[in-house]
Amino acid sequence: MCGNSLSKRIQRFWKQVLKCLRMTLFSYPISGMTEQEVAEYRKSLGIRVSGFDVPRPIKQFEDCGFSSTLMNAISKQGYEKPTTIQCQALPIVLSGRDIIGIAKTGSGKTAAFVLPMIVHIMDQPELKKEEGPIGVICAPTRELAHQIYLESKKFSKSHGIRVSAVYGGMSKLEQFKELKAGCEIVVATPGRLIDLLKMKALTMMRATYLVLDEADRMFDLGFEPQIRSIVGQIRPERQTLLFSATMPQKVERLAREILADPVRVTVGEVGRANEDITQVVNVIPSDAEKMSWLLEKLPEMIDEGDVLVFASKKATVDEVESQLIQKGFKVAALHGDKDQASRMETLQKFKAGIFHVLIATDVAARGLDIKSLKSVVNFDIARDMDMHVHRIGRTGRAGDKDGVAYTLVTQKEARFAGELVNSLVAAGQNVPAELMDLAMKRKGWWKRCAWS
Ligand code: AMP
Repeated sequence: MCGNSLSKRIQRFWKQVLKCLRMTLFSYPISGMTEQEVAEYRKSLGIRVSGFDVPRPIKQFEDCGFSSTLMNAISKQGYEKPTTIQCQALPIVLSGRDIIGIAKTGSGKTAAFVLPMIVHIMDQPELKKEEGPIGVICAPTRELAHQIYLESKKFSKSHGIRVSAVYGGMSKLEQFKELKAGCEIVVATPGRLIDLLKMKALTMMRATYLVLDEADRMFDLGFEPQIRSIVGQIRPERQTLLFSATMPQKVERLAREILADPVRVTVGEVGRANEDITQVVNVIPSDAEKMSWLLEKLPEMIDEGDVLVFASKKATVDEVESQLIQKGFKVAALHGDKDQASRMETLQKFKAGIFHVLIATDVAARGLDIKSLKSVVNFDIARDMDMHVHRIGRTGRAGDKDGVAYTLVTQKEARFAGELVNSLVAAGQNVPAELMDLAMKRKGWWKRCAWS
């Protein structure tokens, strides 16, 4: 028993050495840079890093030492060069280190953990019957889990790696059968994964690569106990990756507990709105004026591209949907009361351009990645600034500069107005005078401003 565990440790040690060697051999262009040049390069990318011996950022996918099969899969996607988060996260993860990645929405972080996961899996002995998965990815919502599943499939197919997605709203029995048939990668929402673990549809005995995506959102949704339970079932020598748009205290605490000697990478400012998105804020007297504003603006928004409208309640979503249909707009609606199959169908139709307007609750705020989406409308304000940032991040994906986010603020919403002013200033956006006036109505707000 003891000898067996020692030989496994030796095996792991050599795997780690191999990973480092691969990065050193293939990353010659960056290894030739001085420390000063590396620092300047990081600065030019807007990256901040902390941790011991942080691997150098890469400049091109060729620096990663990927196999020709993986390079082909990357170019097939039309990815010419790595995005900012990929430049720094890929060499860190490929060298076997744990990572905390804090990056704005739409930054390309999915590929930053999927590509090294493929390399990791290809380095492992093949799975025997009932042994999988090797890579486990947890995401807060079905939509995001599905999005990650699609991105993983793009790169895993050519390697013969099997991916399964397990989330609520779909048949547990079908998912049970699929997992039993074996897979190297599982993308899951935490609740459903726990259910399937209890049913012994899968085990974590071979899991050595764990990704927690949008960790802040998983905590917001109350998944902390499930996440802790999942992490507790995966062997401690695993490689752990945690991605989050913001780092509240609770997430920091978990990260300290479950990551070993992580490198922390921050791209842009934490929780800051995407600067590629133009934000337009309209202060209106009350809720009653919202519909006429939308009816007037919608045609020109549709001229630019697809439109996503956020409302806070399901009833409002249904009401806006029926009013727009009556006016002849092609619209669809998405909220938690709709079953999973119809939600998927709606999203597919929206992606295919059958509908140009989607009205949704925050169910749709995460993970939606639709390139034709040019406008986001906050028909109702988000419940907090983090959600606002995620909502508007549905446009301006992967550096697209023409996204516009419209936010309707009523006279009753002075507290949110104050936070919105701070966020607009941080993202270098215009602050309308009416919004400033509204924010000033809150006593003492001025003194709390980070920039005053
Ligand atoms: P993500 O932040 O992972 O949701 O990615 C946002 C979008 O960027 C997705 O549509 C990806 O397919 C795309 N993307 C990811 N990496 C790259 C890249 N290196 N070049 C171009 N597009 C990318």
